[in-house]
Amino acid sequence: MPSKDTQTSTSTALNSLAVQCEICPKQCVIGDGQSGDCRIRINRGGKLLATTFARPCALHVDPIEKKPLFHFLPSSRIFSIATVGCNMHCKNCQNWEISQSGPLETNETYALEPDALVDLARKSDCDSIAYTYTEPVVYYEYTLETSKAARRAGMRNALVTAAYINPGPLRELCRVTDAATVDVKFIDDSLYRSNCDGSLQPVLNALKIFREEGVWLEVSNLTIPTLNDDDASIRKLCDWIVQELGPDVPLHFLRFHPLYRLRHLPATPEDTLERAREIAMRAGVHFCYVGNIRGTPSENTYCPSDRTLLIRRLGLQMLENHLTKDGACPTCGQKIPGVWS
Ligand code: SF4
Repeated sequence: MPSKDTQTSTSTALNSLAVQCEICPKQCVIGDGQSGDCRIRINRGGKLLATTFARPCALHVDPIEKKPLFHFLPSSRIFSIATVGCNMHCKNCQNWEISQSGPLETNETYALEPDALVDLARKSDCDSIAYTYTEPVVYYEYTLETSKAARRAGMRNALVTAAYINPGPLRELCRVTDAATVDVKFIDDSLYRSNCDGSLQPVLNALKIFREEGVWLEVSNLTIPTLNDDDASIRKLCDWIVQELGPDVPLHFLRFHPLYRLRHLPATPEDTLERAREIAMRAGVHFCYVGNIRGTPSENTYCPSDRTLLIRRLGLQMLENHLTKDGACPTCGQKIPGVWS
């Protein structure tokens, strides 16, 4: 049985029963009976409702490496949830069937209030919950309340997000968030606009807020042939990360597969991803990984000081972990940033 819609607290009443949503930079002004751009926040009689609250459409147990999170509870299982809806409309979306759907367009939804979801995660032998697959920003209230319930139960929370969110709601969410992995799609505003229906600066602001609020942060970049795979773009992204977030934020270059509205482009060649990783290391990024390619040494973690192999991975599996108990290199003793236990 579906749960009731939940009224949002992040909206402003306007004239004629219109309301303005304040969750993300789109700041949608929504007339009575209409939805915002994400399609799931709906104005009913002057009240803005989060219509997917407690109605997830996806529930899975994933290896945490899949998020990708490589420096946060490695090799653990993470209970992963999503509702329909997204505030971006990326032409390359891998989950477009659910991210671009409205609340009545998906056949399968579950009825799971936050405490029940946390119970289910516990029974599934998970110590953490990921808000993922679509965009936790648009099911903000469900993410927030479930994160609070998870914290009460001694569990941890991870956001997998494009970080297109306003500073106020983000800072509130950070109070109950332990880790975030942010997909920085481009380091170019015009590409954000043409490919995602978003913009760059709010994402950069959000990345800095995650760091300021002490949330463990990793960054990923889907490297798409002809769009963002040139040396200058890669270098610009890496320089920004090193200068604004610091060299210890892990960076993942992920292989693109032709999907949704970019089926005419080829998959990213492995060479391109390895070249991107080399550029990142030269720019000063300490931990850079290549993803969606199985069996490359570039998915391992090495000590930035003496290049000792610290964690060996194959795909999403951790095969060896040589870190000391307190998360240091066993050879030179350098502390490796991350949340290791
Ligand atoms: S969260 Fe949805 S309704 Fe709110 S401003 Fe963003 S796109 Fe609009």
